[in-house]
Amino acid sequence: MINKKSVEDIDVKSKRVLVRCDFNVPLDKETGEITSDKRIVESLKTINYLIENGAKVILCSHIGKTGKNISLDKVAKRLEELLSRKVIFLKDIYSSETQKVIDNLKEGEVVLLENTRMTEKEEANDMEFAKKLASFAEVFVNDAFGSAHRAHASTEGVTHFLPSVCGFLIEKEIEALDKGINDPKRPLVAVIGGAKVSSKISVLTNLLDKVDTMIIGGAMTYTFIKAQGGKIGKSLCEDDKLDVAADILKKALDKGVRFLLPVDNVIAQEMSEDAKTRICAVDEIPDDYMGLDIGPKSIELFKGEIEMAGTVVWNGPVGVFEYEKFANGTKEIALAMANSKAVTIIGGGDSAAAVEKFGLEDKMYHVSTGGGASLEFMEGKKLPGIEALQDK
Ligand code: ADP
Ligand code: MG
Repeated sequence: MINKKSVEDIDVKSKRVLVRCDFNVPLDKETGEITSDKRIVESLKTINYLIENGAKVILCSHIGKTGKNISLDKVAKRLEELLSRKVIFLKDIYSSETQKVIDNLKEGEVVLLENTRMTEKEEANDMEFAKKLASFAEVFVNDAFGSAHRAHASTEGVTHFLPSVCGFLIEKEIEALDKGINDPKRPLVAVIGGAKVSSKISVLTNLLDKVDTMIIGGAMTYTFIKAQGGKIGKSLCEDDKLDVAADILKKALDKGVRFLLPVDNVIAQEMSEDAKTRICAVDEIPDDYMGLDIGPKSIELFKGEIEMAGTVVWNGPVGVFEYEKFANGTKEIALAMANSKAVTIIGGGDSAAAVEKFGLEDKMYHVSTGGGASLEFMEGKKLPGIEALQDK
């Protein structure tokens, strides 16, 4: 349960409310058009609530990396369409024109400030910048789950100057992730994949204390297989993490966690769409081959576990799903989750992208909007953007 005040716990009528959204949407590299508006759609509940309750709504967000100076103008346009109302887009937060618009805002009106990462002060959590943002409003609502793991000026800095609460998206995210990990319907099965053991050590370690079954997939597999003495060819492997992998295997044994590695895999000599593929045992990969997806026996094994689960938490694709040739394992895992009666929770940017790509989002209990934030939550870390909000 989230123990933070939400928009519903405060009076917003006639108040100028600064809302930190997560409008960090993916853009087409060539046209600059929005390729998925999921994050904008997910922010509507809080924005509509504020409009309906007579607030003067001031939205802000980052998009892209600092230095890239990507504008939120496309987001403003899409938001207007989704809200069916005018969104005033303010390009320069320091201009007197911006101040005038904000001073004259009426109840139910919506403005969007330009990308907070137009300045380095955002990520530096610069207090002068935070104070400037806060000066526009009387209340702060953080609804940017995807940025909650970062203490930046618009996520944490502003909370030093305004009474601060969470929005509906943060509430939904925390409740789903918390239920899945800390109060799950059992058996709790975690599926952890992705590229590297090193980026998942904390997740693996934290989840070993919670899960009944841990399923491993993706490139991470090979560090574990090599640690057990298997032959992994030229598969991705972190040789400096072999002892970490061995330690995790031992911990799983000590804690009585069922720890399942793939038994077979799809191998190829190169990672390409027209590569010739073969299936072989996961610990018998020829020298000039690499493992790029889980094989049919592993799919059956993992599907069985997912079918019997009370809760499935998934982070990390089990193969190179960006290539059609190596996407089958990830697709079958996603399908098994979509068809299972279990509470299904997906965290991690690439895993969420995979679920979306297969069109299975609506069949899942929860697909997190925050890649890094959901990962840090699964690591058992506190998220500074949420910690800074007022307690209930
Ligand atoms: P998430 O964003 O969901 O946390 P990660 O970023 O940890 O996931 O990992 C995703 C990446 O892992 C994908 O780009 C995928 O191609 C890669 N990957 C999965 N399996 C393999 C493999 N066998 N070999 C190389 N890369 C892999
Ligand atoms: Mg990723």
